[in-house]
Amino acid sequence: MSPMPNSKASLNLSIHWKNFIQNDPIQVGFSSISDGCMSFYRGKKEQVIQNRESYFSKFYIQLKDTCWASLVHGDQVAFVQETDRSKGALSNPTAISKTDGMWTTTKNLTLCTTHADCIPMYCYSSENSAVGIAHCGWRSIVKKLPEKMILKAIEHFHCTLPSFRILLGVGICSNCFEVSKEIVHLFPENTITIIDEKYFVDLNLCITQQLQNVGLDNSQIIVTNLCSRCSSEYPSYRRDREKVQPAVAWIRTY
Ligand SMILES: [Zn+2]
Repeated sequence: MSPMPNSKASLNLSIHWKNFIQNDPIQVGFSSISDGCMSFYRGKKEQVIQNRESYFSKFYIQLKDTCWASLVHGDQVAFVQETDRSKGALSNPTAISKTDGMWTTTKNLTLCTTHADCIPMYCYSSENSAVGIAHCGWRSIVKKLPEKMILKAIEHFHCTLPSFRILLGVGICSNCFEVSKEIVHLFPENTITIIDEKYFVDLNLCITQQLQNVGLDNSQIIVTNLCSRCSSEYPSYRRDREKVQPAVAWIRTY
């Protein structure tokens, strides 16, 4: 299958970026299939390093200034700092261990997670210019990772609820995310649609509801609703299976 870029999807994403970033000193991104595999689990090490270097060079970001999480579909949130610079950039064992969410206030430290259907949740608190990213697959969502990203940031940074701004990036949509009868009970009832005895779950809605539960207002949350499986521009595990080449989601403050 040819990875033809879907320019409509890119355009929509950039509009969402603008609303999220406003005039604050933050920068965010999400790579495309054409940028190559960004995960050491799915690609040859030297090739992944080369893909990462060449992708980030477009934004004048050096790999030594990135920090990567070793993802486990859990609910751990790490607070990373200067001493974590370059962790996971060149090999997975040095990445932040067993973590799906990261926050930092360190300037020019790019937080990175890899994705192929799991929704990236970009976070920002204007009070101390803290930035965060969470890798929200269904397992992490069920374990309340989105909620914990906010509650732990409040605990750690002593910031207030109105200071947060959240963007849900490219991930699997409610038409594409079918779940089995065995796990459907794990999701809130109003996020489930049943079609021909098949169960579909809206993960963007699951995340949004968790954010509302902790006290965030709708005006603080941007949902791009861009689907990795529907758009040929982005990698999707459900579509590409073993050939999948995960993308990188990233955020930094400068
Ligand atoms: Zn879809």
